[in-house]
Amino acid sequence: MTLRTAVRTILHPHTATEDLGPPPRPDPGARRLAGSLQVRHVDAGSCNGCELEITSAFGPVYDAERFGARLVASPRHADALVVTGPVTRNMAGPLAKTYDAMPEPRMVVAVGDCARDCGVFRGGYGVEGAVAEVVPVDVAVAGCPPHPEAITKALRGLTGR
Ligand code: SF4
Repeated sequence: MTLRTAVRTILHPHTATEDLGPPPRPDPGARRLAGSLQVRHVDAGSCNGCELEITSAFGPVYDAERFGARLVASPRHADALVVTGPVTRNMAGPLAKTYDAMPEPRMVVAVGDCARDCGVFRGGYGVEGAVAEVVPVDVAVAGCPPHPEAITKALRGLTGR
């Protein structure tokens, strides 16, 4: 959020939602999802910094739902799996089971540097590896943590909206 937008939001609270511009270039495979993306989130070992930004991406300012992305409670209802954190030894099995429970077509979004390459937790005794070492990753969002706009942009790439 720019300073100008922040001041405008304070003065006119009804204008909280950011204009995030035109849709980004669709990711390969987005066409199969027909603009509607049901998202199951799994924290595979995050510090919870990435969760805060995902919450913000679905909050009133970035409002990912207006672009067709929606959080759901079951992998059986999900088109996409959003994974945060390095995958810990305890979470490798549950993450793989969650992926297996999803219907086809299914996509995986690795959110944050830890999900991409273990980040600051690389080499930790309890770390199994990056998300791509457990389930196939289609989209990765860089950052520690990534900005909610970057997370929303990645989701928009899948909805094409
Ligand atoms: S990328 Fe940063 S914010 Fe996200 S889980 Fe790792 S350490 Fe935490």
